[in-house]
Amino acid sequence: MIEDSPFVAAAPVLVPMPAERPYTYAVPAGMRVVPGSIVRVPLGPRQVAGIVWDGVVEKVDAKKLRPIEQVFDCPPIDRAMRRFVDWIAQYTLSPPGMVARMLLRAPEAFDPEPWIEGLQRTLAKPDRMTGARMRVLETAEGGLAWTRSGLAHAAGVSSTVIDGLKAQGVFETVMIPPRPVVAAPDPGYAQPSLMPDQSDAAAMLRSNVAAGTFGVTLLDGVTGSGKTEVYFEAVAAALDRGKQVLILLPEIALTHAFLERFQERFGAKPAEWHSDLPPRMRERVWRQVAEGGVRVVAGARSALFLPFRELALIVVDEEHDPAYKQEDRVFYNARDMAVVRGHIGGFPVVLASATPSVESRVNASQGRYSRAVLSARFAEAALPDLKTIDMRRAPPARGGFLSPVLLGHMRQTLEKKEQSLLFLNRRGYAPLTLCRVCGHRFGCPVCSAWLVEHRFRGQLVCHHCGHNERRPEACPECGTLDHLVACGPGVERIAEEVVAHFPDARTIVLSSDLMGGVRRLRLELEAIANGEADIVIGTQLVAKGHNFPNMTLVGVVDADLGLANGDPRAAERTFQLLSQVTGRAGRTGKKSLGLLQTFQPDHPVMRAIVSGDAEAFYEREIAERERAALPPFGRLAGVIVSAATRAEAEGHARGLRRAAPQASDLFVLGPAEAPLSLIGGRHRFRLLIQGERRADMQGFIRVMLAEGPKLRGSVRVQVDIDPQSF
Ligand code: ADP
Ligand code: ZN
Repeated sequence: MIEDSPFVAAAPVLVPMPAERPYTYAVPAGMRVVPGSIVRVPLGPRQVAGIVWDGVVEKVDAKKLRPIEQVFDCPPIDRAMRRFVDWIAQYTLSPPGMVARMLLRAPEAFDPEPWIEGLQRTLAKPDRMTGARMRVLETAEGGLAWTRSGLAHAAGVSSTVIDGLKAQGVFETVMIPPRPVVAAPDPGYAQPSLMPDQSDAAAMLRSNVAAGTFGVTLLDGVTGSGKTEVYFEAVAAALDRGKQVLILLPEIALTHAFLERFQERFGAKPAEWHSDLPPRMRERVWRQVAEGGVRVVAGARSALFLPFRELALIVVDEEHDPAYKQEDRVFYNARDMAVVRGHIGGFPVVLASATPSVESRVNASQGRYSRAVLSARFAEAALPDLKTIDMRRAPPARGGFLSPVLLGHMRQTLEKKEQSLLFLNRRGYAPLTLCRVCGHRFGCPVCSAWLVEHRFRGQLVCHHCGHNERRPEACPECGTLDHLVACGPGVERIAEEVVAHFPDARTIVLSSDLMGGVRRLRLELEAIANGEADIVIGTQLVAKGHNFPNMTLVGVVDADLGLANGDPRAAERTFQLLSQVTGRAGRTGKKSLGLLQTFQPDHPVMRAIVSGDAEAFYEREIAERERAALPPFGRLAGVIVSAATRAEAEGHARGLRRAAPQASDLFVLGPAEAPLSLIGGRHRFRLLIQGERRADMQGFIRVMLAEGPKLRGSVRVQVDIDPQSF
């Protein structure tokens, strides 16, 4: 009987585990919880943080339940966010607990930040004045509270001077609340004067934000046309309404420049959110977003799971970028989920890109999204002149990868004291090493991939699992010494060639292998922007968003690289990447040039880039997708089965296929070996499910998983709704 029990109620609590539904806990007498409360609960031998979920608890025997241990002193997760978690779980076929886990990633933030001890000036006067004491009193004059060390530092004195003043009663101890992680942005701080088409687009976005209803706008404009400037106006409109804003960026760790630009417009930086943030900072940002102190967050895809309470706008910058797709545990595309979040929260979403995804273009043309177009670069900045170099006619010198035409333009650029960028989307020195005598190729022992030589590190590295070994002198197969050859180029090898041609030029290689991580990368990017390098050789890290004022030549070393695999998205991706990288040139009105080295100058992607006729490219690409009933005209999902042995993986995949239900609008392809059939020692098979746009993909897969073989041994199954590559 409930009356006899010390517990008065029970509540569903979603815990950060692969739990299919919330677990029920008893609520001790006197404890108050509401849906969204963050609580500490026992789970097996452990204690975890969970979220009180919605829904009524079925009749349970309260005596058998374990009690909620503690309610954290933290604003509850709001209803929109809870619905968002449920929605993602349903859509991605992930346990809701695993989605909740993404929301609960800052455990220290659930308790309020402690106030810290500080000092404040009293009316008392010191017994005698010294120069040091004078400086302290002047510094503390405003009446604000200071920390002991902060005041000593600001006044330029040692802390003992402060202690002396405190002993005399000149300062008293007060408690200071935690400092905000960022100052409040001011929507009126520095309003730009916009060009006519910019101001039309801005007016449209502003009015959407003011209306406070759901709607998606595709902000489509060439690189440098002022998209950022324009969506800042939407941000300002949300701030005017006292609301919160989320700006998603694909490479937040590299967007130092973005933060500064935001500051120029709003007088304060947005809060950052990404995996490189120090843990302490993460906790503080999380907490202050929940409390509403942080108004604007600029973050990576995981920022979607911050506990906003008054979110009124999401901007997804570079919306086409594959980095928005998470392919780990919960497989989701942050761009699509941002749209869902806007729908649930009832607010507008802006998708910005110079090269929108085919999906977004179709959504716009079919009227599901509105579209705002900026067709010219701002001010006198002209887009670079773009040309292909036919590598069949103008091959590089033996052993080299740069054609004489490209080298000639690099020389001229150097002479003009301007910068060149060579782009090659391949880390390391060479993608394949083989023995010239016996033909042995160096492969990864646990992946179906070749080892990539990294010459600076003297290693052969697997780019899929991280396996690395020293590059040997002799072939491990036939034992012959000094006959190993590097096949094909990576950025390090291109750098070697550049140095041989231009020994006096200042050359920088930029890739994610850079020693010193993100900090170093930021410094290098700043150095390039300040003109401290003549030739930059980089992977796609340099392709995204940066503004290098003196860069007037971009050379794409291998424009065909991304077209080589059989993926139907290859053309779209290559078009986007090449447009973006050539867009690094000519940002300030100097005449600029983009050169694409290719063996297929007549390929539609090359033609679209060179002619600047993006429309023709999209039309063709969209027609092709429609004909093949591929997304967004049809639906796709991948089911990836992995296991320690090939037989187990294949057997399980076949079992799933047999369990597929009958459906008129969905069919299963495969199982076939996944594009990478072995990763980290796990064999992988993939089923592809294709169907009509309105088909119930999730229902279909759910039946397959439920009716198929039970998970046994080392077998794991991952569902990938809307896969990136197919
Ligand atoms: P995008 O985001 O489309 O690549 P940006 O917003 O970065 O373009 O704009 C490119 C450059 O032009 C930036 O340096 C930006 O400050 C400048 N710019 C664009 N529009 C304006 C404007 N109306 N007034 C002043 N500067 C502008
Ligand atoms: Zn490997």
